[in-house]
Amino acid sequence: MAYLRFEKVTRRYGSFTAINDITLDIEKGETFSLLGPSGCGKTTLLRMAAGFDQPDLGRVYLDGKDITALPPDQRPVNTVFQSYALFPHLTVRENIAFGPKIAKWTPGEIAKGVDQMLELVDLKAHGDKKPSQLSGGMKQRVAIARALVNKPKVLLLDEPLAALDLKLRQRLIVELDAIHDEVGITFIYVTHDQGEAMSISDRIAVMNKGVIEQVGPPAEIYEAPRSSFVAAFIGDTNFLDGKITEAIDARFSRCEVADFGSIVIDNDKHVTVGDRVHLSIRPEKLVVSREKPAMSPMDNAVEGKVEDVIYYGSHTRYWVRCGEWRMCAEMQHRTFLLDETPPKWGDTVWLLWDANDGFLLEQY
Ligand code: ATP
Repeated sequence: MAYLRFEKVTRRYGSFTAINDITLDIEKGETFSLLGPSGCGKTTLLRMAAGFDQPDLGRVYLDGKDITALPPDQRPVNTVFQSYALFPHLTVRENIAFGPKIAKWTPGEIAKGVDQMLELVDLKAHGDKKPSQLSGGMKQRVAIARALVNKPKVLLLDEPLAALDLKLRQRLIVELDAIHDEVGITFIYVTHDQGEAMSISDRIAVMNKGVIEQVGPPAEIYEAPRSSFVAAFIGDTNFLDGKITEAIDARFSRCEVADFGSIVIDNDKHVTVGDRVHLSIRPEKLVVSREKPAMSPMDNAVEGKVEDVIYYGSHTRYWVRCGEWRMCAEMQHRTFLLDETPPKWGDTVWLLWDANDGFLLEQY
């Protein structure tokens, strides 16, 4: 059995189902993120791991034991909240020492544990300060130290960086990753920020309306989303609807997209001629070119007109009108050939991409 297992878990609030029959396995030592839009049930699932909430149906197991009905203080699990939840009248040292005191550690053990934690979160010089004297990032590091000093088997992090500004979030996510490497326990991270989830997680569960749409490593979720919801929630994408017109071989099929053209797709979903399908192509997989180069039969080229160009510094985004479809393409500047002038508004261009860079999402 997995280290932490949610088995057929359902949680209802009156007639509303917040968690709908979820089964999820989380392995020992991994950083696992629950990712999804507001209200999808991430916090409810986390609260059931912490013991603050219980499922109406299903069981929760930790390290082989059924913990479904175990109260929070008897679980080897600690939570870090977005709001820090520090005691304002206690110093940093006293905040971190709070759990060990309740657990009746000896004074020597407490001092040693607190010193280790201050070192881990890089706050050795700030042990005697009160929370009001600390920055937001420092407060969150105290909250992490206070949760980790109890040596939990699992650390739950509920949107821990949401109150911080972007630069600080980016820095703390790297620090959190280093802390995880050092302590080696299981981290479960709740966020609605796909960038945070992608950068810290070994695996991600993408949630939507009380169910899990997809579980996998960040690259798999980004490169091979299984549904329109996942494709749209993780990064940007272009959607197309088409009809399969030809099975080229075991892997590739031809698909007619009305008012767009005939394109080749990687048929990993094994659809057959006549099926209507929903497709997605990431903006960075599309190349914008003034020329239509000599192509292999597995390359795609569709003609269109540049409607918008936005320069982002590291890259430029082009919105290209192809019939009724408005496609977004993202180009790194070095992608253009040295002698090629980047296209501008109103230019006629070709959108080029490999057949296996578009993915089939679902039939409709
Ligand atoms: P957010 O990112 O906004 O915190 P979330 O994905 O964590 O969202 P949850 O807090 O798990 O979502 O809530 C899931 C759904 O359950 C929401 O629609 C919420 O309104 C509902 N819900 C949560 N707790 C209760 C409660 N105690 N009573 C009634 N409804 C609740």
